[in-house]
Amino acid sequence: MTKPLLQVEGLKKYFPIRSGVLAKQSGYVKAVDNVSFHVNEGETLGIVGESGCGKSTTGRMLMRLLEPTEGKVTFDGKELTSISSTEMRKARREIQMVFQDPYASLNPRHTVEKILMEPLIVHNIGNAKSRKKKVHEFLEIVGLSSYHAKRYPHQFSGGQRQRIGIARALMTNPKLIIADEPVSALDVSIQAQVLNLMQDLQKELKLTYIFIAHDLGVVRHISDRVGVMYLGRMAELATSESLYEEPLHPYTKALLSAVPVPDPEHKREQIILEGDIPSPSNPPSGCTFHTRCPFKMEACTSIVPKLEEVKPGHFVACHLYNEQVQH
Ligand code: SF4
Repeated sequence: MTKPLLQVEGLKKYFPIRSGVLAKQSGYVKAVDNVSFHVNEGETLGIVGESGCGKSTTGRMLMRLLEPTEGKVTFDGKELTSISSTEMRKARREIQMVFQDPYASLNPRHTVEKILMEPLIVHNIGNAKSRKKKVHEFLEIVGLSSYHAKRYPHQFSGGQRQRIGIARALMTNPKLIIADEPVSALDVSIQAQVLNLMQDLQKELKLTYIFIAHDLGVVRHISDRVGVMYLGRMAELATSESLYEEPLHPYTKALLSAVPVPDPEHKREQIILEGDIPSPSNPPSGCTFHTRCPFKMEACTSIVPKLEEVKPGHFVACHLYNEQVQH
């Protein structure tokens, strides 16, 4: 049986809002509000939602690049949310991140060799000779060449830079990679190459991925399961097959209706959502999606729907699937 490598329970991030000359706290931005999920060893969990839904904040809290306001994160049996910052730095050897903008995340004044060696130095892995060898080995693994080691980030294309970003994340032999919109900044033709590379690396190096994206189309082929977030909460969580074949949450249905389907027989009716995503500093009461939901009922404005399992492995937070609330 596959076991969870990562377990997230009741994760919250509330950013205080300060106003006035005395900077008095006047409220909170609830960027992430009570999110729970797990990721099994060797699988890919996609996390999807519009900008401001809390997906990147969630990713950063898992590594404690941002401190959670509340909640528990357990990685490989160790509770990350209760260890010291020194221990956390050590734990980061096993959890690495790939960022959206590879150019911004690579130091322009350093050669690729220096950039890739840095994680090995930080975690005190190997010596000068073995580090150099590993840099060359990983450049080849990500589809670049050893001669690229002496070049600078600006000498590469966007796709190549993301390959360097991936190589840097792999240098410490991590178990979990959190990829935050890793292909969003790339041309569509290059996106597929980087996604294929990530899939090959997963098989070869037995990696576990959390793949954050704003588009359900991008995560479809790489994810085993997908979680859809809306305004800081998990709206739906299911296997890719179940989510794409039979989405349950009205928000997921709307997102999916915008994804082009190659088979004209299975054309989906496009659902256009009215209005913008509300501000997380003043989220709607009850179900936070009620201001845009075409199926809104009376209960939706006052009762927060819980994420419940309505089919094996398929979770949804919506009153349409809760008979007790409807009657
Ligand atoms: Fe729509 Fe109500 Fe379901 Fe929220 S709980 S998604 S408002 S039907």
